Amino acid sequence: MSNIFYKYNQETLNYERVYPSLKQRIWVVFRQLLIGILIGTGLFALAFYYFDSPREQQLKKENKLILAQYQVLSRRIDENEKILTDLQGRDENLYRSFFNAEPVPASIRQLGVGGVNRYEELLNIPNSKLVIETTRKLDLMTRKMYVQSNSYDELVELAKTKEERIKHIPSIQPLKGINKNRMSSGFGMRMHPVYGNLRFHSGIDFNVEIGTPIYATGDGVVESAKYNGGYGNCVVIDHGFGYKSLYGHCKDLLVRPGQKVTRGEQIATVGMTGTTSGPHVHYEVHVKNQPDNPAKYFFMDLDPKEYEEIMELSDTQ
Ligand SMILES: [Zn+2]
Repeated sequence: MSNIFYKYNQETLNYERVYPSLKQRIWVVFRQLLIGILIGTGLFALAFYYFDSPREQQLKKENKLILAQYQVLSRRIDENEKILTDLQGRDENLYRSFFNAEPVPASIRQLGVGGVNRYEELLNIPNSKLVIETTRKLDLMTRKMYVQSNSYDELVELAKTKEERIKHIPSIQPLKGINKNRMSSGFGMRMHPVYGNLRFHSGIDFNVEIGTPIYATGDGVVESAKYNGGYGNCVVIDHGFGYKSLYGHCKDLLVRPGQKVTRGEQIATVGMTGTTSGPHVHYEVHVKNQPDNPAKYFFMDLDPKEYEEIMELSDTQ
């Protein structure tokens, strides 16, 4: 390609042909090339920034979907968290208290998911705040569910023995259909009717006629059935779970040591053997080898009002 160059001469008022040097010709070509490259690059950049490639469009669409999905997940985790909190509340206030289980310490229930840098690798992804928050919530919930599941396991174990415990713990009166007014001596310090001094009375006395049947107050095994000093003819039943019951001043002993008895089964008759001023049954309940107020265990025989009355009567202190 060879260009012919003209220049307007103002003196001659004519176009005159000029002959540029090679250097000038190269410069002209280079300049045109440069302008072309600049315009091309500019247009490309414009297109790059303002128009997405089909692949970019696809990725953006997917990202949007994932983000929306994360938001849905986050909301669902919040909803499940509420349900879990409700389960925890019921566990503490209903199930655990029903089985007399110790509460699960709040420090364990609310234990956080440790480690500051636990979510570090998530920091560099887009929308990291939402992703980290969602992951953290899910981790926390997993932890709480683990604690909750352990609590239920414990309750299942307690439930297995609960029925047995209920059957064994002494929880009726040793005499049937006995008016509470027949209870002559309560549990605690009292003037001894025979010795006439202040002594600790470790049981409850019921004044009834000789020969009245005496019943086992819970399932258990007869530990002893024999004459036992001041108690006279006396039956002791071991109920297991740390409970024992004792029936003193009997006339006839109808059970032998080692014999299994069930609640309500007759074990003896009322007498006036041992140290006593008249016919009565002296009844004791021991919890872990310590005498306890037997009236506390009459709840299966009595309605709440009667129970309250007998508790008042039985407490001599
Ligand atoms: Zn007594």
